Amino acid sequence: PLVLGIESSCDETGVGIVRGTEILAHAVASSVEEHVRFGGVVPEVASRAHLEAMVPTLEQAYRQAGLDVRDVDAIAVTCGPGLTGALLVGVAAAKALALAHDKPLYGVNHLAAHVAVDQLEHGRFGERVIALLVSGGHTELLLVDDIATDITMLGSTIDDAAGEAFDKVARLLGLPYPGGPEIDRAARDGDPTAVAFPRGLTTGRDLERYRWDFSFSGLKSAVSRHVQHEQRMGRPVPVADIAASFQDAVCDVLSKKAIAACVAHEVPRLVLGGGVAANGRLRQYVLERAEAAGIEVRIPPPSLCTDNGAMVAALGAELVARGVSPSALDLPVDSGMPVAQIVAA
Ligand code: ATP
Ligand code: MG
Ligand code: FE
Repeated sequence: PLVLGIESSCDETGVGIVRGTEILAHAVASSVEEHVRFGGVVPEVASRAHLEAMVPTLEQAYRQAGLDVRDVDAIAVTCGPGLTGALLVGVAAAKALALAHDKPLYGVNHLAAHVAVDQLEHGRFGERVIALLVSGGHTELLLVDDIATDITMLGSTIDDAAGEAFDKVARLLGLPYPGGPEIDRAARDGDPTAVAFPRGLTTGRDLERYRWDFSFSGLKSAVSRHVQHEQRMGRPVPVADIAASFQDAVCDVLSKKAIAACVAHEVPRLVLGGGVAANGRLRQYVLERAEAAGIEVRIPPPSLCTDNGAMVAALGAELVARGVSPSALDLPVDSGMPVAQIVAA
């Protein structure tokens, strides 16, 4: 099926067009520059930026694909989770297009779309997979029995999301927002063994009780204490070493638990999704450890890991192909939509 996908849950306005698992258009406008001076996404600023970017981004996607909304079989749009005001812009645009051109409309889950997008790079999953979803607002281990109909959350972060930890630690180190790519870059010149930062929920009773869960707030506090200590001692903060050591702690835990989940559930296939899946150290750890455990790994290219419309179209195409009923034309946005709810009623 030919599907148009619209994304506006955070600070990227994305429009993608796919034919099955083939990308025909992948247009993204980001308002990240407007948030830099605030050190994080400002919801009202993001909403207004979506309003301004929506039509130009749609037109850019039409030009890339050489077709427009009249040609597609369905329209998919992110309806949650995300910032309510931001989501409303994409959903309003999608509803207008669906109504005007009499197309079926699917309100889809942003997190499921972060997982589904890998199919555009590596083909359909075919079998059940374990997914590690690591983004700015979420960190979840998922058992994906069927990307169109059946996702179970095994565990999630009990405090900060992985991307949030990257962004907060970057700020502590004086690096600009968004911090993930900055830390990834700074860490290349650092020693990952320079500081032994804590690896939350990985040992003893914590591991027993929180086997598939994550915690990054203790790690963030440890980095903060370390930075303050260096400053009190009158020493320059060793940014590269701290970045590398912090990144190593996050990626060590993420990769270990993801591989352990594959082994425990006897699912030798792991998919990564979300902005943090662009991280070089995480990719390296996951690939090394999966190979040692005989697990096949699928990681989308960085440009598909961060928010975009093609991922929404990818999930929409799967829903159409599987005969899932479209959503109602008055579908609501849901800022806290759980990942198990793949499509809005
Ligand atoms: P969510 O999907 O949970 O609603 P989001 O859409 O804001 O949140 P994404 O766009 O998937 O999240 O990812 C953005 C996050 O990814 C940011 O926290 C950013 O710092 C992080 N990130 C991007 N590139 C990298 C990288 N190379 N290394 C680590 N983190 C990264
Ligand atoms: Mg973003
Ligand atoms: Fe996202």
